[in-house]
Amino acid sequence: MSAPPRETPAKGRTPRPRQKRGEGQWALGYREPLNPNERSKKDDSPLNVRSRIENIYAHRGFDSIDPGDLRGRFRWFGLYTQRKPGIDGGRTALLEPEELDDRYFMMRVRIDGGALTTEQLRVVGEISREHARDTADISDRQNVQYHWIEIEDVPSIWSRLENVGLTTTEACGDCPRVVLGSPVAGIAANEVLDATPAIDEILERYIGDPRFANLPRKFKTAISGLPDIVHEINDVAFVGVDHPEHGPGFDLWVGGGLSTNPMLAQRLGAWVPLDEVPQVWEGVVSIFRDYGYRRLRSRARLKFLVKDWGTEKFRQVLESEYLKRKLIDGPPPENPATPIDHVGVHPQKDGNYYVGAAPVAGRVSGSTLVAVADAAERAGSRRVRLTPHQKLVVLDVPEAEVPALQAELAELGLQTKPSPWRRSVMACTGLEFCKLAIVETKVRAQQLVADLEKSLADINAQLETPVSVHLNGCPNSCARVQTADIGLKGQIVTDADGNQVEGFQVHLGGGLGLDAGFGRKLRGHKVTAGELVEYVERVVRAYVAGREPGERFPQ
Ligand code: SF4
Repeated sequence: MSAPPRETPAKGRTPRPRQKRGEGQWALGYREPLNPNERSKKDDSPLNVRSRIENIYAHRGFDSIDPGDLRGRFRWFGLYTQRKPGIDGGRTALLEPEELDDRYFMMRVRIDGGALTTEQLRVVGEISREHARDTADISDRQNVQYHWIEIEDVPSIWSRLENVGLTTTEACGDCPRVVLGSPVAGIAANEVLDATPAIDEILERYIGDPRFANLPRKFKTAISGLPDIVHEINDVAFVGVDHPEHGPGFDLWVGGGLSTNPMLAQRLGAWVPLDEVPQVWEGVVSIFRDYGYRRLRSRARLKFLVKDWGTEKFRQVLESEYLKRKLIDGPPPENPATPIDHVGVHPQKDGNYYVGAAPVAGRVSGSTLVAVADAAERAGSRRVRLTPHQKLVVLDVPEAEVPALQAELAELGLQTKPSPWRRSVMACTGLEFCKLAIVETKVRAQQLVADLEKSLADINAQLETPVSVHLNGCPNSCARVQTADIGLKGQIVTDADGNQVEGFQVHLGGGLGLDAGFGRKLRGHKVTAGELVEYVERVVRAYVAGREPGERFPQ
């Protein structure tokens, strides 16, 4: 059969190019909001909500809060309403937001670079004990998250945090979120250079700056002299690299992000010296603000623009429109074989040691954090770091103090020689507090670790590189489902008896570093929550039995 004839334009008429629908890019003239989120940001800068919290809502109580502030602008100060207890995950998508809202808040404290003094850590812990029912989770972006916060307490919490140099400003929202940094910046013997001055300058110059408080969506940054900050999944990342002619500096990456349509960040092939990082960061975030897509929230991350433009055009626009100069070409950084998590005891370049300890899936408490601050000080340290793997590191420990500190941390449930499961299991907030969640994650992660420590006791010692297991409560991938060896994405599944129960879609073989890539989502590869331990055990036993010596979990 012959192909149908193609439609051809009538003779003498030039075909009109199809009008491409605009994506709401400000730089192309789309200044009128195209959806309710954009409208809300345009109507009133989210940064203005702070004064309403301080002057109105904290005095008049929860019921006085304007819904546009409650479910929108509050995020710019790290505040989300938490999920009402007792609503199961199967109903998440069926209810209106106000039906899911509790009268309490999750509050996120941004800990840029994961860097805390023991004094700051103690204050973070004390606030938790007094105002957050002793809750404190270490997030996989180096933040601390409280729960059960009441609106009446927010101003005094801010003032206590700010007295020690901490803030919740732009911890959430469509703005530059916490800047990831190496937990061992300045002390690691193998870092290319210490990125701390660049992080400090970005915070000082741009966080809370109205010019960058209305971005198309969230904007994630990572800056480190070592490849230890999951740089591949950030909107912009600067990774330490030695340039053969110019010396130590950073390799520039853009457009990483997970969730739906995940994409690994792309190298622009540019080398940036330390003192130019803030300016180049400003250029990248400005491109996102001006050219980022604002029509659909689902396409509003920088990765979509990078995908459409390609790295060559992105670099050219950055240089010509924003920096007004050329960037220097540079080499790629060295990739670690597996993610660096800083757990255990390691020498610093000054002769002291840093001691990395693992809670399960970042769950600690305010009391634990206060106790860690005390223990660190007894060991002669004044500095603690949080990691992007939900771990905690005490810096500057003299060798003689290390064993006593390890013992004290172990008493607190923070192990410095953890099992591979305690070391590698991560979990997002999940059903306990998150309004988007479909399944429980944190408590399940704790049970999973305990069960795997027992059921795989005979082979745990053979796992030189732990098999990473990440539990996510919904498809949003806050715990990086696609980059785990075993990624678990929460959803309702059907069990053997035909019941709808909590379970997970499985992604196998994801990774960062040398093996950077997304796990395979096998069609129909789902597991109920009740089968989870046996499932992980089966996968791990098959891997250990079939691997070549030294072979990592298959990608
Ligand atoms: Fe909530 Fe989903 Fe993120 Fe988990 S992955 S914290 S359930 S939005």
